[in-house]
Amino acid sequence: MNYTLQPKTQQFLEQTQKMLIGGEWCEGKETFKTLNPANGEVLVDIPLASKSDVDDAVIAARKVFHEVWANFPPAQRSALLWKLSDLMERDKQILVELETLDNGKPLGKAEYDVTGAINHLRYYAGWATKIEGSTIPVNFPNTFAYTKREPLGVVGLIVPWNFPLMIAMWKLAPALACGNTVLLKPAEQTPLTALYLGKLIQEADFPAGVVNILTGPGSPTGEAITMHTDIDKVSFTGSTAVGRKIMEAAAKSNLKKVSLELGGKSPNVVFADADMENVMAGVHWSSFYNTGQECTLGSRLYVQQPIYEQVVENLSKSAEQLSIGAGLSNPDLGPMISEAQMNRVMEYMRLGKEEGAELITGGKRCEGDLANGYFLSPTIFTHQNNNLRIVKEEIFGPVVAVSSFKSIEDVIEKANDTEYGLAAAVWTKDIQKAFKYVNAVQAGTVWVNGYDYFDAAVPFGGYKASGMGKEMGKSAIELYTQEKSVWIGGLG
Ligand code: NAP
Ligand code: MG
Repeated sequence: MNYTLQPKTQQFLEQTQKMLIGGEWCEGKETFKTLNPANGEVLVDIPLASKSDVDDAVIAARKVFHEVWANFPPAQRSALLWKLSDLMERDKQILVELETLDNGKPLGKAEYDVTGAINHLRYYAGWATKIEGSTIPVNFPNTFAYTKREPLGVVGLIVPWNFPLMIAMWKLAPALACGNTVLLKPAEQTPLTALYLGKLIQEADFPAGVVNILTGPGSPTGEAITMHTDIDKVSFTGSTAVGRKIMEAAAKSNLKKVSLELGGKSPNVVFADADMENVMAGVHWSSFYNTGQECTLGSRLYVQQPIYEQVVENLSKSAEQLSIGAGLSNPDLGPMISEAQMNRVMEYMRLGKEEGAELITGGKRCEGDLANGYFLSPTIFTHQNNNLRIVKEEIFGPVVAVSSFKSIEDVIEKANDTEYGLAAAVWTKDIQKAFKYVNAVQAGTVWVNGYDYFDAAVPFGGYKASGMGKEMGKSAIELYTQEKSVWIGGLG
């Protein structure tokens, strides 16, 4: 692998890493290490934010919220967000490299994520000047009623490791556009792009304390945020299990508002009349994108009987052709994020066999040159039992469970037989069938003849145990503001 890092990336990695609290770069009393999952080597030491660091950040965020940010003219908020997006564009390759090193993902996929983050920021920079209320006709004489949308105050943003910068931006951009101040906690496995973003936020000249970046694990850092009584809202993306803890913490502390983007087990349904070329290109990526570490992964593939054998065979061939390697060599698939996550997925691979699913390809850790990293081969199981654990539980690895179906009624029942409801897809040339599925499937996003389209303008979020509240589009403006109803009397 001959890739040479940008000098600025190298420099950043050689610096002592500090977290951003109240506009100051601070060391932690303790530190933890972030690793390169391609080889298990330590990249850098990262400060571990304690409860008292979180307290300091909240004090700073509250002060600047009251004194400066809540009344900052919208056009100036917008200009700052645009300035930040331009700095991200300038340093795009550094962000790409840091994401690849820390998370393991291929450079090309990291670039896609960073571009997505920049676009997202620009979309909400535009919203900062367009957050409106309404006037409402009412039945009292001589009165006037209107609504206005106000920021919530101090908001905690807790993000996972699978799309570190992009998901941070799904939250940060609308939160700031709406006039909130924030504490951002990246996942402990992937803090680097958030810390680099902190440097750009300072360079853009945001008022000190508007954005605080607290690095550290779920406990104590995440818990200190969710339990804090002076944080007005927590916006969380991560597992359903931790999502439950976040709600519990909100209930036990100050009933802070909560929005949750959680796990998924998305049904991907292929009818026999679908365009086969289109299907194969789509299903290939929907089954293994980001090495399966994706909340919307099409991890349950249902194929109509007449073409079932053919799809399984084609998918298995294409899975075996995917290149696997360190992100810096820009393969199709990078490593799993950590040894723990790799072992968890391997346990599901073992379980699938034990439960009687048929292993078509994959099912093992990669060896040879890849033995030092956390690499798994793309894995296909076939089965005819929706109750298997590999079919019911989110695996979060490159594992797809494929089964056949007869009729649309049959497959709708199977698709909805899950606690999750994040996303779903259907492949068919028949518009009637497509609409029937779209209307019946219990999922927050449905793709027809495509997969994983995302755009800052289109709301995204889960039904059922996949979440609460929709991010993106106008929906995120509702997530980061509260509506005030105002009555004015005595006008007669
Ligand atoms: P996770 O273990 O739930 O962690 C997510 C974040 O929460 C991390 O920053 C984590 O910190 C923090 N955290 C852990 N315990 C906490 C606690 N008790 N209080 C407060 N914060 C706590 O999820 P993950 O393993 O990083 O990510 C994978 C999961 O995310 C999958 O289930 C996936 O489906 C879901 N996901 C959902 C979406 C979506 O949009 N719906 C998008 C991406 C991922 P540390 O890890 O640093 O300890
Ligand atoms: Mg890492």
